[in-house]
Amino acid sequence: MSRGDGDAGDDRGGDAGDRGSLMARPGPDGRFGEFGGRFVPESLMPACLELEKWFDDAWSDPAFRSELDGLLRHYGGRPTPVTECRRLSERLRIRLLLKREDLAHTGSHKLNNVVGQALLTKRMGKTRMIAETGAGQHGVASATAAALFGLECTVFMGEVDTKRQELNVFRMELLGAEVRSVISGSRTLKDAVNEAMREWVACVETTHYCLGSVMGPHPFPYMVRQLQSVVGAEARAQCRERLAGSDPDVVVACVGGGSNAAGTFAGFVDTPARLIGVEAAGGAAVTNGVPGVLHGMYSRLLQDEVGQIEEAQSISAGLDYPGLGPEHAHLASIGRAEYSSATDDEVLDAFRLLSRTEGIIPALESAHALAWVARNAGTAALPHGSTVLVTLSGRGDKDVAQVREILAGRRDG
Ligand SMILES: *Cc1c(COP(=O)(O)O)cnc(C)c1O
Repeated sequence: MSRGDGDAGDDRGGDAGDRGSLMARPGPDGRFGEFGGRFVPESLMPACLELEKWFDDAWSDPAFRSELDGLLRHYGGRPTPVTECRRLSERLRIRLLLKREDLAHTGSHKLNNVVGQALLTKRMGKTRMIAETGAGQHGVASATAAALFGLECTVFMGEVDTKRQELNVFRMELLGAEVRSVISGSRTLKDAVNEAMREWVACVETTHYCLGSVMGPHPFPYMVRQLQSVVGAEARAQCRERLAGSDPDVVVACVGGGSNAAGTFAGFVDTPARLIGVEAAGGAAVTNGVPGVLHGMYSRLLQDEVGQIEEAQSISAGLDYPGLGPEHAHLASIGRAEYSSATDDEVLDAFRLLSRTEGIIPALESAHALAWVARNAGTAALPHGSTVLVTLSGRGDKDVAQVREILAGRRDG
């Protein structure tokens, strides 16, 4: 990155494990405190170990980093700006800044991760990427990066989701990807992850599994956080420029698996800023989850009394993962980051509030972070006069039809 790179989350050349700094590289067991790890069948272990080596090698190679930075700049539209929200700040009596990931190519932070992993796929000499997707956003991003690099791409998507998100299925096909409908289990995201992992083991010679968030077995949570740390590194430098050298009091991001939040927090974890992650009320893995193992990681998960994974429920399809990344479970347990949730109603209000006051239609996911700010402004959690940075993880164009339907339904019913 030509600006704002700083040293946040940066571990060039190092594989010594935790050096005492928060959000450093985890040790070889991939643990963040008690969370994380690599809970995979024997058959998947070599693939994880191989990937870890390749990523460490790439991440410490200045040529890889500079090629990635160039792609994010000239293809992806980075650096994304930080926007000062004058009207909304006045209304809430705080100073609100937005990190504008909605302005990145494809409309969200997801491109940072997939471009990095596509570049790594090439470096490993592989010709094919596979990905899981729920609502389709990570699938579309993966298909985009695959097209850019001339890689074959297969996206695993639960059958239920392929029906709910027909337009995204078409988008992926338009971008040259094959969408494989998954009919096991509940036929949704968690089953798509399982299928993608199975396919990865079967085709590891030619195929990289491009996982979509800071979850799964080591090295994925660490790798995806590093690839998203560009968000926090840029934002910190941009905030310091804007705030006469100081950091925001509070940094807020929404949490599905937790990648935009992890990338943001990495830039501020060594500052005094309070870090707030906001989950969907129906998918609040920190508040309502219990520790357990899913998709190769030990983290906090929504489970019933007998340990069955429960489906997350949210207005926003991008936040309906029934767990969250292990590093967030760790940051919560040591108290460095705080986690809260927002209800669908609060999210709809925040969606309209930002649209009207600032002329920015946020993704429903991002509106969770704004909902936390709107709810807490003027309370002890967020006193008047506070300076707040919110990562606006994506734009809301994809959500406009859904919101229209919900609001019309309310008027009629
Ligand atoms: C996918 C997505 C999210 C949730 O993913 P994280 O890994 O938690 O960041 C949030 N916002 C947008 C716009 C998304 O597309």
